Parts: sequence; C-alpha cells; structure tokens
Amino acid sequence: MDFLLRCDFCITKLPVKLSKFHQQVLLYWKLIYSHNFTPHSVPIWNNRCILSRRKSLFFDDWVERGILSILHLMDSRGNFLDYDDFVNKFNLKCTKQQHSVVIKAIPQAMVNMVKGMLLCENRIPMMPALFIDDINFIDKKCTNKIIRGVLTSNLFPLSLKRKNLLKDYPEESIVRIRTGYLTLPISPKAKETHFKTLNDIYPCNEFLRQRFNIDKNNCTFCDSYTETLEHLFFSCTYTRVFWEAFQDWISEKDNQSPKLEYKDIKYGVIIQNKKQEMMYNSLIIIAKQFIHRCRFMKNHPLFLVYMN
Ligand SMILES: [Zn+2]
Repeated sequence: MDFLLRCDFCITKLPVKLSKFHQQVLLYWKLIYSHNFTPHSVPIWNNRCILSRRKSLFFDDWVERGILSILHLMDSRGNFLDYDDFVNKFNLKCTKQQHSVVIKAIPQAMVNMVKGMLLCENRIPMMPALFIDDINFIDKKCTNKIIRGVLTSNLFPLSLKRKNLLKDYPEESIVRIRTGYLTLPISPKAKETHFKTLNDIYPCNEFLRQRFNIDKNNCTFCDSYTETLEHLFFSCTYTRVFWEAFQDWISEKDNQSPKLEYKDIKYGVIIQNKKQEMMYNSLIIIAKQFIHRCRFMKNHPLFLVYMN
C-alpha cells in the first residue's frame, strides 16, 4: 500500500481488480495528495502514463531489486540498456518479452525529458515522499482528524459558514434553528430546501460558479444581478414583491406578526409563542420551496400562485 500511494496511479488502469471500498480509499488519496512530477523519480510502476494494453505495470520482483525509476533502465546518457546489460546489472531473472513490454510502455516524451536532464547533470532517482500538507502521511502524527481536515479543505474550499449562525443567535436558539423545522408538518422536499439554505449549500448560480467554475451566475429571475442565496431568496426585485405580498397576507391574519428580515427567511423565525413560531416557519419554508420551484421552472415567484 505504502508503495502504491507513492505511484502516480490511475485507479481504472491498475492491473488488479479492486473492491469498491479500495477504489474509494484510493480516490480519496488522489484528492489529498499531489504528485510532484519529476520524470527521473516518478515510479514507473502503477503509473497512469506508462501503460501496456491500457493497464499500468507492476512487477514485484523488479521492485524488490530496486528497479523503480526510468533511470534504472538507462545508461548514464539516457539510452535504454539492452536486455543482457539490464539483467546483468540487476541480477534479475526476467524474459526478454517482459523487458520489452516495460521499455515500450514508457512514453517517448518522458524518455526525452530524462535524456535532456541527464545532459546537464547526473540524477539519482528518489521515491516521492508521502507528504500531505507538510505532514508525513505514515507518521503517527498524521491523525484521522488531520486527514479529515485536509479532505474537507480540498473538497470544500469555500469556508463553512456555520459560524454565521453564532453571530446572529444565542446558543439555545441555534439548536432550535437546526432541529425545529424537522418536526414541522411540511413535505420532505421543502425541508430539504430549507436545510440547504440554512447551511449555505443551496446550489444557487453563484454557489455553482464558485464551486464548479461555471461561467454564468446571473439571477434566474431578474437576469441582472449575481444570484447569491441572499439575492435569490430575498433581495431580488421579484422575490421582494413576493415577500411583501406574503407579509401583507400574514399581517392581515395576525397584526402581531413579525416583520420578516433576510435572516428570518434563511433560518426561520424565533418567537416566544411556540405554536405561532411553528406556523410561521412552516409558511416560510413552504414559500422558500415555492421560490426554489419557480427558479427551477424559470418562472417568476408570484404570490398568487403560491397561495394556490
Ligand atoms: Zn434577481
């Protein structure tokens, strides 16, 4: 395993059949580890560029003899050793065919690079070290916590905005915000949309642009502003009109109704009367689901349609 991790492998090209679990493990490794490409040091084994019949190569008896780098197959000027010289040099038992498979699999571009390098100076191949974020992966200090941190920062480069909640609400309210909506009598889809907006992971166009480099981030409704979460669900002209009508409607029913701000729409309202809180939050979350559906259908969010 230690050896494989040092190789610049491609999972689908490895010459073994891997279980789903092992594929997943290797995939995660690829996410956190960056290979510094040096043509003379990169192991020829399990190498995604050194392929024979579309699979990378691995001969364990060669590895045991210390044959790791392309340099081991060459003379000091960068020419490949012929079969006899090669087996004598490493005292290795291998067939002519094996030798030629390996040589043929090495791309010419890589050979040229190594040759170019050898013209300037002598190189000694070194196996790449397993460092992730300046910590040696096989050191005991590299705990699960550290690995998890590296994975998170690689997969989710945008800072988590959970702490935003802490600024706006006291701690006991945060628990209510995080879990209260789960028991509301509304559809799971609506809860899902609320969950996404609450945690700043709703895939609005700006979010998609930041995460996946998608060019377009204009608002689906007005097409003139950047579609951030706040814009889409609150400050867009069309959404504002919707919320104003919504606010008028609830004020008609209850003249004590809270004046809705963006944070109320994002997180839900928190009020003394639990029953009222449940009612308002159900309506708000259903309204957000409605806005979400309008965005998906590319319609403007009209309050009249919501009421139906
Ligand atoms: Zn807009």
